[in-house]
Amino acid sequence: MLDVTSLTKTYDTFDFGPVDLTVDDEVLSILGPSGSGKTTLLSLIAGILDPDGGAISLNGEHLDGRPLQERRTGLVFQDGALFPHMTARENIGYAATDRERIAEFASLLEIADVLDRRPPTLSGGEQQRVALARTLAADPDLLLLDEPLASLDAPIRRRLRRELHTLFTSLEIPVIYVTHDQRTATALGDRTAIFRDGAIEQVGSPMAVINRPTTRFVARFTGNENLFEATVVEQREDTTLLRVSNVRLQATAAAAAGTGVTLCIHPSRVQMHAPSGSDDLHCENTASGTIDQWLNEGDEYRVEVALDDAPITLTTTIRPSSFDQLPLEAGSSVRVTIPPDAIHLIK
Ligand code: ADP
Ligand code: MG
Repeated sequence: MLDVTSLTKTYDTFDFGPVDLTVDDEVLSILGPSGSGKTTLLSLIAGILDPDGGAISLNGEHLDGRPLQERRTGLVFQDGALFPHMTARENIGYAATDRERIAEFASLLEIADVLDRRPPTLSGGEQQRVALARTLAADPDLLLLDEPLASLDAPIRRRLRRELHTLFTSLEIPVIYVTHDQRTATALGDRTAIFRDGAIEQVGSPMAVINRPTTRFVARFTGNENLFEATVVEQREDTTLLRVSNVRLQATAAAAAGTGVTLCIHPSRVQMHAPSGSDDLHCENTASGTIDQWLNEGDEYRVEVALDDAPITLTTTIRPSSFDQLPLEAGSSVRVTIPPDAIHLIK
């Protein structure tokens, strides 16, 4: 178990920490904007940087002040830093404790075909995977990964997310995986920490940071674009009546009457329908609106709908397969529904 307590570091223009963090034998994914201190955290834990204050221990032993080579920490940065004059195989074998596993890691990381080539002849993505294999082969007690797959194409990154989660779990060591790709953070992490301005803003299960963000920053960062200030009108037994501008909404989440809350709805939970069909017109949390703009993002469409009777624009995502049934043009009339359980409240 990795234990980080009150860790701080001050640069001229940036204050890191204090950060408190515990990582069991699990994968903690770290997500945060550029410049939020993710690399600084890994560098402090690895011993590349000296902290100004705080303590770091691994399995009960203090790491502070220990030389790098004694920390048994595997560290992979985005730019692999391989030995250019050695082949990929020699690089991986350089610090390997168990040479038999080299072939296994090479096959899992899909680099078996390039093992006899030298790094300058490899693509960026291949170099990253060789660097990862080299680190894994050294059998570390702690694994720190800083965007190790950033140069990979989408299909292989998707395959590796699945493989790596299984592999990391089998190592039974703390693994910290820094990424700015939310899908990777969600797929690989047992837990996810969101970094902001040198501190952890929220840590929890990947689904918790997406579905139950505790701050507007986390909400935005995890794709919850629909954020509105609301007033709690009434708290009933199992529903909360909310007012946003002149729109009334029912939510299952509880909040005290009379208080102000931020309403947070993930675009994937906003349903969009054709304007016809009067049968379910009175369905709760349904309003008519007009498509303001839309964007084709390949696997989904992101559509902004301006409500007809309120100064509110809702963002929704829909799959291309449900697309044919809808008029999808700026200016088209549609209806949108927000299921009561899709409304998360930030207090
Ligand atoms: P991230 O990895 O999240 O993008 P970093 O940890 O690399 O962020 O950097 C956090 C902040 O610290 C940035 O504002 C960066 O400019 C600053 N910083 C990083 N390293 C140094 C350094 N050696 N000297 C001064 N400032 C630094
Ligand atoms: Mg970084």
